Amino acid sequence: MLSRLGRPASQLSQMLVKGSRSLTQVSPAIDKEIKIGPKSQAIFEREAKYGAHNYGPLPVAFSRGEGVFVWDVEGNKYYDFLRAYSAVNQGHCHPKIVKALKDQADILTLSSRAFYNDCLGEYEEFITKLFKYDKVLPMNTGVEGGETACKLARKWAYLVKGVPNNQARIIFAAGNFWGRTLAAVSSSTDPDCYNGYGPYMPGLSIVNYDDISALEKELQDPNVCAFMMEPIQGEAGVVVPQEGYLRKVRELCTKYNVLWIADEVQTGLARTGKRLAVDHENVRPDIVILGKALSGGVLPVSAILADDEVMLTIKPGEHGSTFGGNPLACKVAIAALEVLEEEKLADNAEKLGKILRSELSTLPKDVVSIVRGKGLLNAIVINKKWDAWNVCVKLRDNGLLAKPTHGDIIRFSPPLTITEPQIYECIDIIKRTVQSFN
Ligand code: PLP
Repeated sequence: MLSRLGRPASQLSQMLVKGSRSLTQVSPAIDKEIKIGPKSQAIFEREAKYGAHNYGPLPVAFSRGEGVFVWDVEGNKYYDFLRAYSAVNQGHCHPKIVKALKDQADILTLSSRAFYNDCLGEYEEFITKLFKYDKVLPMNTGVEGGETACKLARKWAYLVKGVPNNQARIIFAAGNFWGRTLAAVSSSTDPDCYNGYGPYMPGLSIVNYDDISALEKELQDPNVCAFMMEPIQGEAGVVVPQEGYLRKVRELCTKYNVLWIADEVQTGLARTGKRLAVDHENVRPDIVILGKALSGGVLPVSAILADDEVMLTIKPGEHGSTFGGNPLACKVAIAALEVLEEEKLADNAEKLGKILRSELSTLPKDVVSIVRGKGLLNAIVINKKWDAWNVCVKLRDNGLLAKPTHGDIIRFSPPLTITEPQIYECIDIIKRTVQSFN
């Protein structure tokens, strides 16, 4: 495999690690040395002055995106290795998805569900046939997807399973992240998410992730109606369960007549090397939640997939959203799903993810203790003596954008359209950046 510098990439990275190229030298695709200037500074200051301080962004201000690259307001070019937390699997501003948006925007953008529109049925048929579920319920954001799944599970508990009214329990995994609503923070184990937002919603319990016997104990309670979990925990730092965990979850949920809700908002849609992450173990959840890349990062679009026994427990007027299933979202989602299939992005994620992990595993263990992930959802755990934030700032200076989580974890999950030469170039950037901290 030749890198853009015309040398085998592994040889090149060894040279770089040994320091034969200085850190200030720019990468081939990153065409000039990166300097954050006054235009960026003005943006940081304006946001700090007029916006709520509920985020702490890495200091870089985007003004344009195309494929795997973004440019900041100073014209600096970067590889985007966060891609809006998995929303931009198809690459920034994918032409097919943007065309679908523009074409539909000229015709009809919103009908509300008070009336029919001529896009929703087409989308419903398309997505349910693709994922092989009876029905879809369209929403907007990922957290609304999670809320909808929990509401469906509770309705099913009372109407089908026979749980006494208001007694239904839903089990979540420790370390979960599914958004910021009161239900989501009530089931969170992260103090940053839940502190100061009580009182919390009842009927939500926690078991350890990847712990089958703890799960089985909980599921024996006949009032438990669902187990909601991520097949790989994204925000927790790309925590991959043991092989076989998903199969056992399926078996236990079937045994105890409990719905298995798979939150595939981050792991789904080709990110982990399969259409859904649960496909790695060939298992089928009762409810699947999709979001983020369902629009390729163009609009907030989420969806809940389930079969009739579950989905039809919610009747007209009992749940909904003004924008859910709007014509723009429907056309965009069809295009976004078609891109994943047509460009075989799951296969690309599978292949390039293996290269990324195997190359990063060659970094000294006292610098990077763990490299983990599946497909192109990956993370490294760095030695606690360095702050992951500082490493990410240095990565930015070298032309690659990633975001730290939990102080010592950095996620590496580029758009799935990334090519093999590009992934090798990114590996070089990551290796020499991380090495410079040693
Ligand atoms: N579920 C998972 C697994 C997520 O990672 C996220 C967001 O990061 C959500 C749900 C919430 O999605 P949104 O921010 O669109 O509400």
